[in-house]
Amino acid sequence: MILHLFLATAAVAASAAPIAPSRAIPFRTQTMGTWATVTLVTADSSAVADLAYRGLLELHRVDSLMSNWTQTSEVARINRNAGTRDVNVHFEVALVLAEAARVTRDTGGAMDITVEPLVRLWGFLGGKKRIPTQDEITRTLASVGPDKVRFDAARRSIRFATPGTKIDLGGIAKGYGVDCVASILREAGAKDALIDLSGNMVALGNAPDKGGWSVGVRDPSGQHPYLGTIRLHDEAISTSGNYEQFVDADGKRYGHIIDPRTGWPAEGLVSVTVVAAHAVQCDAWDTGLFVLGSEKARALAKSREDISIVVVEPRSGGGYVVWVEESLRSRFKIESEVVSTLTLRYF
Ligand code: ADP
Ligand code: MG
Repeated sequence: MILHLFLATAAVAASAAPIAPSRAIPFRTQTMGTWATVTLVTADSSAVADLAYRGLLELHRVDSLMSNWTQTSEVARINRNAGTRDVNVHFEVALVLAEAARVTRDTGGAMDITVEPLVRLWGFLGGKKRIPTQDEITRTLASVGPDKVRFDAARRSIRFATPGTKIDLGGIAKGYGVDCVASILREAGAKDALIDLSGNMVALGNAPDKGGWSVGVRDPSGQHPYLGTIRLHDEAISTSGNYEQFVDADGKRYGHIIDPRTGWPAEGLVSVTVVAAHAVQCDAWDTGLFVLGSEKARALAKSREDISIVVVEPRSGGGYVVWVEESLRSRFKIESEVVSTLTLRYF
């Protein structure tokens, strides 16, 4: 009887082999000082595991070129030598330098990779986080500014104007890495995927049974995971905020994004989220717009076709004001549970 039942079940399984539904399968690694996830939509996770890890490996490779933490990266080599002589630049580092230079120009110097000595002074790059004196800041500012880097894109060579000048790609390299992963997945024929390097994301195709991918904009109060979601399809997104890396003193919060023009951490905003075609654009712009503050960030984003943004700022009397650019209105959805703690505005 038992044998009979077993055979009957086996026969059913063989004749109507059920097709597994496609699911979003996440693969993870730790790199660039944070966690990365490549999520692939598949009905066979073992068939895509190699590709997922090939994508993740790409982030380790970009980290080895652009890390600001190690002494062995290409960027560290540039920083050691370009103060005294012309240095040859790896072609991918050159690509990122060129993109950074465009955003530096378009943000009036708010996004500026020469911020490195300031980031270090405030203890956000090794050392202990602390509040420097105005004297130290003024002295450090002498090595900072777009005019302190002479980068010849055609010859791929770089030279700093002062011995103290250094570059930090921490505000742009993650986005570049995520774009590299997206290229690998696309070339391998993967249509539906989400790449996420601590909020620097590219969404390819669709999540299972959905149109596009729904990506959350974090609730800064920490009470809920998201304050809202944005639906993305074959595009990139990233967020800059001051809720992860900061130093608190005298009732003030000093975040890790520094205004390279004053030497002081950018104030006023909680976060800026940027949607664009490429993650490298999103990453560079989120940092620059965070420095510029709510009004200037909104005006600049509105004047440009290539980026759309969501700005979160504190609301007087508590809670937040969430500014959503009109171009995102139809695909932005507020989380119903947080509605009472914020004011939603479109611009
Ligand atoms: P995250 O790295 O947390 O995703 P960002 O993309 O905003 O956030 O990058 C912040 C990093 O960029 C800082 O940790 C620092 O290395 C660097 N940075 C800080 N201020 C600036 C600035 N004004 N311009 C360019 N890079 C900056
Ligand atoms: Mg950035």
